Amino acid sequence: MGDLIKEAGIRCDKCGSRFLPHLKKTEVGEWEITTFACPFCHKGYLVSITDRELRKEIQRYSRLSDENKIHRLSLERQEEMQKLKASNMARSRELKEKYRKEARDGEEKENDGSPGDEYLSAGS
Ligand SMILES: [Zn+2]
Repeated sequence: MGDLIKEAGIRCDKCGSRFLPHLKKTEVGEWEITTFACPFCHKGYLVSITDRELRKEIQRYSRLSDENKIHRLSLERQEEMQKLKASNMARSRELKEKYRKEARDGEEKENDGSPGDEYLSAGS
């Protein structure tokens, strides 16, 4: 997904402008949050969010995936890899949901025209 938006650019939901997103990483506690904001209207977008546990599992997955590229892993290990990927994606969705909910709760306070930053401070 990261590569896709880099190549094609994205269209802002709010103002309809096309732009190439500048990804920004922020750490909030043990969460690592990747976001970007529309340069025209400053709407904030959430790309991904990980916690310590998920980062560890993602690393485990990419290690397996690298090994698999060098020489094909046994079917068993490949299955393990697929399961790991699926559970990482599920976990990542969960974290996004949780984060969005907190960001929504904070939305009423938004008033200075920089929702991007307002968005990021949610949960701290
Ligand atoms: Zn916009």
